[in-house]
Amino acid sequence: DIPLWRFLEESARRFPQNVALEFLGKTLSYQELWGLARRFAQGLKDLGVRPGDRVAIMLPNSPQFVIAFYGTLLAGGVGVNVNPLYTPRELRHQLADAGAETLVILDHLLPRYLEVEKEVPVKRVVVTGIKDFLPFPKNLLYPLKAKRDGLPLGFPKREGFHAFAELLKRPPAEPHVPDPEDLALLQYTGGTTGLSKGAMLTHRNLVANVLQIDAWDPTSKDLVGKGVMLGALPFFHVYGMTVAMNYGLFSGYKIVLLPRPEIKAIVEAIEKHQVTHFPGVPTLYVAFNNFPGIERRDLKSVRACISGSAPLPLEVAERFERLTGAKLVEGYGLTEASPVTHCNPLYGERRLGSVGLPFPGVDAKVVDEEGKELPPGEVGELAVKGPNVMKGYWNRPEETQKTLKDGWLFTGDLAKMDEDGYFYIVDRKKDMIIAGGYNIYPREVEEVLYQHEAVQEAAVVGVPDPYRGETVAAFLVLKPEYQGKVSEKDIERFCRQNLAAYKVPRIIQFRESLPKSSVGKILRRELREEFAKKQG
Ligand code: ATP
Repeated sequence: DIPLWRFLEESARRFPQNVALEFLGKTLSYQELWGLARRFAQGLKDLGVRPGDRVAIMLPNSPQFVIAFYGTLLAGGVGVNVNPLYTPRELRHQLADAGAETLVILDHLLPRYLEVEKEVPVKRVVVTGIKDFLPFPKNLLYPLKAKRDGLPLGFPKREGFHAFAELLKRPPAEPHVPDPEDLALLQYTGGTTGLSKGAMLTHRNLVANVLQIDAWDPTSKDLVGKGVMLGALPFFHVYGMTVAMNYGLFSGYKIVLLPRPEIKAIVEAIEKHQVTHFPGVPTLYVAFNNFPGIERRDLKSVRACISGSAPLPLEVAERFERLTGAKLVEGYGLTEASPVTHCNPLYGERRLGSVGLPFPGVDAKVVDEEGKELPPGEVGELAVKGPNVMKGYWNRPEETQKTLKDGWLFTGDLAKMDEDGYFYIVDRKKDMIIAGGYNIYPREVEEVLYQHEAVQEAAVVGVPDPYRGETVAAFLVLKPEYQGKVSEKDIERFCRQNLAAYKVPRIIQFRESLPKSSVGKILRRELREEFAKKQG
């Protein structure tokens, strides 16, 4: 039971001169980072931030992100991660819902905030940007051009706006020691299936998940103070925050920060920095598989690539390992569990297609509609329990009651367990298609589609059908070399050979790309909505 910031303090004591963060060629040591976070904390306190106050952080991966988050904790505040790609509408919802009175933001993103400033509780805005300390590259960020929108870069010279760099001139704060049950982070769920809710994650929750990762990896001790973590996944999502940022800092690793998870930059960073730890998502591994010349690149420094946050199609995993010679290990988690609850063993037996075994300290079971535990092999809802499970949803007691029962978190995912205790995610409960009375799991159809040599990415959803209630629709991105050479009919024929007739997609559409969330999850919900709109 320690505050999350204790990890950073400890690494700064053990490895003061080690590089903590590397950002586009510039570095900060652990000692420097710890000092800057404490100064930022004092800056926040001087501005009026009090323990329990929510501080929204709208930044891409950068030293400023890490300083702002740890500074917030050291001041006793609660971090609220805001996706930098949010539109004004989404930003308004989140700032208002969280009751955030403080916002730390990148200057390029200010125009979006200024559009909603009168409708949100924010009283103070801390601005960083390309002219600031450890400058952001000019063109690397989001395609939003403040100048083109008629707004100068930098920040409005009026009350309530403060420069990030000014806060860093304060003396280092005395760290605020929270209760382990105090909130550290309000993490809004991905919104993949609908309304975005704030999961209340405490210091105990976030500390627990880092220690669980550490316990899961039997060799973690050998690399303490020596490992290199690739910080490509966004830290504003809890997967990147826990697995790359918090775990990286706890272990005294050098964290290589990439402001955008682009495949070319990732491959180059792995080679250049001899990355040892690489958490990623399935669409990223698809991108590796299609990266020209990937079989000649050197990924040997990476002990294991971790995949989580969405199903990893078998075909993608096998092809990735064949092409790169690297090892890919799949895990599972959700925002409400800080997030990791399952992973395949790093060295023991991995089962492809499975998300592995429950993490140390996590209880997991598969239950039926009445909440009764099901025997191995049967499909039901996955429920998990452990020190990493959230306190509840912020200001949503009803949602909390539906999701948390007797300490068990109902995940909304359908799963089964085999005789040896390995878990398999079948699909999201909400995405299951019921067509003509049959249950169809989109994931099973997607797995088949990925086996077709021409398919680069696939998403399957249920769309309304007058006769069957719902019917199966498949949206595909073809590999460039197959475009124009493979028809919808060919795909359908392939499906007929590999799937029972009722599972074969009745609608097949080729697309240039598929809609994805900030972490790279394919958004089935958007595909359904787009389809509905087109049908009028
Ligand atoms: P929202 O809850 O707002 O709809 P979201 O579910 O995408 O958004 P996250 O917490 O980011 O929010 O994602 C957790 C979900 O991701 C899990 O419930 C599960 O459906 C899916 N998931 C994570 N890892 C895996 C995996 N290895 N295989 C299959 N699905 C996974």
